[in-house]
Amino acid sequence: MAAQLVREWTSIQQFPCATQTKLLELVGKLKQENVNTLTILVMGKGGVGKSSTVNSIIGERVVAVSAFQSEGQRPVMVSRSRAGFTLNIIDTPGLIEGGYVNDQALQIIKRFLLNKTIDVLLYVDRLDAYRVDNLDRQVIKAITDSFGKGIWQRSLVVLTHAQLSPPDGLNYDDFFSRRSDALLKVIRMGARIKKSELKDFAIPVVLVENSGRCNTNDSAEKILPNGTSWIPSLVETITNVASNGSKSILVDKKLIDGPNPNERHKLLIPVILALQYLFVVKPIQRTIKADISREMKSLWELRDMGLSGNRF
Ligand code: GDP
Ligand code: MG
Repeated sequence: MAAQLVREWTSIQQFPCATQTKLLELVGKLKQENVNTLTILVMGKGGVGKSSTVNSIIGERVVAVSAFQSEGQRPVMVSRSRAGFTLNIIDTPGLIEGGYVNDQALQIIKRFLLNKTIDVLLYVDRLDAYRVDNLDRQVIKAITDSFGKGIWQRSLVVLTHAQLSPPDGLNYDDFFSRRSDALLKVIRMGARIKKSELKDFAIPVVLVENSGRCNTNDSAEKILPNGTSWIPSLVETITNVASNGSKSILVDKKLIDGPNPNERHKLLIPVILALQYLFVVKPIQRTIKADISREMKSLWELRDMGLSGNRF
């Protein structure tokens, strides 16, 4: 792996004091649990606010944000350290192109992640979107096929544009719960999470408002419409997921080049074919050969063996 430039997380001082205190408290908690590095992977469709969320967490404009689709983007890892703790956040380009998952973009992301360990996945989408569709499901499926179903045990859903006024006079909390339910459902479908597995895949949903016009409280912290200071709350949920006991995802060569990690049983196919050959095909061939050699016996031979019906 190329040496990664780890800079001191000085931009943490850009946050209001209350936010800084909370963030350092969370970092301290992780260190107590012997977690000295946290690598967060940020994924989702284009234009949903992935890069803006990375900038919000770091407290500095570290990755480019664009209102328009920018092409040919590559993943970027931003690393910051503070008091012996290193935070890595990997921003990725959107996965959709022309209505489909762009396999090449996915391949580039996978190669970028080689030998890295993903501790937490932030699956980003907008709160102010009114439906989920097959495209969402395709993105979820692509992530699952690339890193294995287990990545969803290490994930949280981030909904940006949280400072919205719900349409049709809907109450904010109702709108939020309907939007999260719809997204969680599509994740369960795309990742093929069974009903019986639901308790192992309790995916938290967190609200984010990256806009510079986000409301603030008396301590100058950016807040959601319900008054919650969302940066500490997002980081707290990230730390909870990081210490939920499930396994981080090591992206090794096997995961990148190997079969779809969800279909490992397909490795058994050659074994099954070999067994079929030995125990089904071979005996049939033997019977056929025996039949043929019997066919080829001349009539007199058969007569001598008493097998011919002919009377001479
Ligand atoms: P990405 O393609 O997923 O990385 O999305 P970007 O972070 O580049 O954001 C796309 C556009 O949405 C930019 O114009 C951002 O300023 C805007 N944006 C991102 N997050 C928010 C948010 O939470 N609220 C608002 N109002 N705009 C946002
Ligand atoms: Mg981006």
